[in-house]
Amino acid sequence: MRSAFLWIFALLFIASASVGQTTRLEQVQNKTILVFTPHPDDDVFGAGGTIALLNRNHNKVYIAIYTNDDKGSYDPDMNSQKLARIRREEEEVSEGLLGTTKDNIMWMGYDDGMLEYAPQPKLTEEATAIIRRIRPDILLSVDPGEWYERWHKSDHRMAAFNTIDAVRAAEFWLYFPNQKLQQGLQPYRVPEMYFFYPSPQEANYFVNIDSVADLKLEAAAKQVSQFEPAVTKYRPDWEAADLDKAKKEMRDEQPKKDGHYVEAFRYATGFVQY
Ligand SMILES: [Zn+2]
Repeated sequence: MRSAFLWIFALLFIASASVGQTTRLEQVQNKTILVFTPHPDDDVFGAGGTIALLNRNHNKVYIAIYTNDDKGSYDPDMNSQKLARIRREEEEVSEGLLGTTKDNIMWMGYDDGMLEYAPQPKLTEEATAIIRRIRPDILLSVDPGEWYERWHKSDHRMAAFNTIDAVRAAEFWLYFPNQKLQQGLQPYRVPEMYFFYPSPQEANYFVNIDSVADLKLEAAAKQVSQFEPAVTKYRPDWEAADLDKAKKEMRDEQPKKDGHYVEAFRYATGFVQY
């Protein structure tokens, strides 16, 4: 009898110790990953090293991009159609370097800066359909808690909140029931979530990107129009000196922890959704 109790206690202990312990993102293999990003560069700047590692380790990585990023230029000769085209091409090259194929990039097509004015039920419904279709083991998105999102940058704020609203909706089929009834999309519960761009005091998960840090810089630098001097006067490629300077700045700004390049996340799971 006593030994039976000991066994039960031992099993309970093992079970409780393993709760919440998941494979490190650096080691995850053969999983499906879905990344939601407000603009076609936040995925690369915020989580590009992690995405490179996930692709390298034979995961299927999908990127869902809310906006076309068609406003952020000071160039008087730029127009929104052209800028959206440029940003799309840059993102495809940039993500391509990280190992994500064009076919796995989904463009939701909202205009830059306008996400908060999109019809919200439609926005949530679209993100919900993506989650139900891709059925990710792991979801990455911009952090809804970061001060910058709360107070300043509207697309980031909206994308952050909309994505977690869609995560909730995706698991209850009565949200947007036509997705099941007409499109055959089954409800889906996202098991793991990691939020990039966390506030420093809330970051609780750091991915070591040492082995892909140079690749991340290379990929980020493909987003030529996001950097000066191309923001002020667009040009499709870098002068060598400008490229060196931009890469050096990015390298200096890349967070480090214990001497390693890292990407910071807020890991969150186990929300009570009802
Ligand atoms: Zn952005």
